[in-house]
Amino acid sequence: MEFDLIEALRARTRVARGDVALGIGDDAALLEVPNGMQLVACTDTLVAGVHFVADTAPADLGWKSLAVNLSDLAAMGAEPAWALLAMTLPEADEAFVAGFGQGFAELAARHRVALVGGDTTEGPLTITVTALGMVPTGEALTRSGAHAGEAVFVTGALGDAAGALRFLRDSGIGIRDSDQHAASTCRSALFQRMLRPGPRVAAGLALRGLASACIDVSDGLLADLGHVCTASRVGAEVEIEALPVSEALRAAFDEASCRELALAGGDDYELCFTAPGESEAVIMATLAQAGCRATRIGRITAGSGIRVLDARGRALATPRKGWEHFSEARARRT
Ligand code: ADP
Ligand code: MG
Repeated sequence: MEFDLIEALRARTRVARGDVALGIGDDAALLEVPNGMQLVACTDTLVAGVHFVADTAPADLGWKSLAVNLSDLAAMGAEPAWALLAMTLPEADEAFVAGFGQGFAELAARHRVALVGGDTTEGPLTITVTALGMVPTGEALTRSGAHAGEAVFVTGALGDAAGALRFLRDSGIGIRDSDQHAASTCRSALFQRMLRPGPRVAAGLALRGLASACIDVSDGLLADLGHVCTASRVGAEVEIEALPVSEALRAAFDEASCRELALAGGDDYELCFTAPGESEAVIMATLAQAGCRATRIGRITAGSGIRVLDARGRALATPRKGWEHFSEARARRT
């Protein structure tokens, strides 16, 4: 469709890469994958009203649509290289495309990701990004490599994005008004995490050869660690007191809510990974060099399922009721 819209996107997202033999403009892109590297491919769709609040700023949407995909590449230990963008727009909206392109380009530039193609169609607002990256053959991190006895770690802090979402719902204010509201409170940090998640690309690269299994936390820690357990045919124990929670989340919610958000809240895009406990010091040092902190939050066990333990090692009854709020959002995302 609209050549001008595509041209506007292309102009905004120009990133020089020698491995793009042919980019936007032909029927398909031609990309060079070096010998000894595997191509890593993933795609994610964002639908207005389902995956993001309808009046989200276009620039935030542009950022996030790429971020969720770079997070998947990060979880594989892959280095991002290229992206394709399929946009369905209710109308040929130049202002929307300009804002979207700006947010998309801002994140793409940070990770040297070249936009090499896409599709533009008319219909209900839907954004699909496909991200392509590379990993040395055989070195990708997967969900299936965890072993009983290993430790479980998570990068950064959990629950912030879900905290922002809960705040919006509880207060009934629109996302456009949230800036004002956040300015006078500690909440701007939470909104930042919801609207502009930072994919853990450097951490994913640093974890190659160190982590036995890895996943990004998009649906909530329990759900995503559960995927690792299923794929690896193991169980896990998570120490509730060990979960990393930000100052901003602590300031905005009581302790019980913080724990619930950290366990079940989605959209944080941190990495959850497993490794032998003896590797902890090396892992922490390597991640610190990559500008990332991590926390040991539990262990992998024989069997199946996840148990959440309190400070005295007792299994907590999982408060399903309290999580319905999130499982609803989760169900809509899948
Ligand atoms: P075709 O009809 O052959 O699929 P299009 O007119 O859809 O061609 O696209 C023309 C060129 O513009 C292609 O190279 C395509 O990859 C690119 N393109 C179209 N839409 C987008 C978009 N939203 N983002 C990036 N590139 C796009
Ligand atoms: Mg096309």
